[in-house]
Amino acid sequence: MNKLLIATNNHGKIKEFQELLTGLDVELLTPDLIGLKLDVVEDGLTYAENASKKAVAFAHASGLPSLADDSGLEVAALDGAPGLYSARYSPRPGAKDADRRAFLLENLKHKPRPWTAHFHATIAIAKPGEGVELAEGTCRGEIIPEERGTGGFGYDPIFLLTELGKTMAELEMAEKNQLSHRARAVLAARPILKRMFAMRKSK
Ligand code: IMP
Repeated sequence: MNKLLIATNNHGKIKEFQELLTGLDVELLTPDLIGLKLDVVEDGLTYAENASKKAVAFAHASGLPSLADDSGLEVAALDGAPGLYSARYSPRPGAKDADRRAFLLENLKHKPRPWTAHFHATIAIAKPGEGVELAEGTCRGEIIPEERGTGGFGYDPIFLLTELGKTMAELEMAEKNQLSHRARAVLAARPILKRMFAMRKSK
């Protein structure tokens, strides 16, 4: 069976990708599963650069086709911050997701609401020794000042899907995977994966 390495150490993302990529006739592997420890420095100036860098590095190190994403939260009142730096958005050494959410709310507290925002995801798919292909997805909503819900990861508890009236963290994973930026990017990436693995268009 074809194999695909999910090129990330973020367990929240791995869980989502495992569900999002079902139905493709592919065995999904993770860095942990194949004993690969690799930290890629995300010093690109765009999501595409960072995602490509991760996919290529994991493909090179593992010899397997690899799928990476680079994603972030862009808040209009903060001119698009934290954006590319979403995973590192806190001055605290050893900061966790909760510290980053608190820092974001601190920076927003004097700005008028609604704090409109969107998530962005760029997926890169690399085959060892070959080029990289990209797919993108976004999801619109707003930041709210109090945390709601226990699902998901990252900024999910303060990201409200305005029309649904629920935060991302209040959704079941299956619901988040219908509408998230990563879900939309995976949808756009499916034809690339199908072609790459020369699969029948059954799903
Ligand atoms: P990176 O793609 O590894 O640079 O990390 C992106 C960062 O953006 C994550 O660490 C989260 O802080 C944030 N992020 C990306 N996608 C999501 C999501 O689906 N929910 C909440 N936060 C997210």
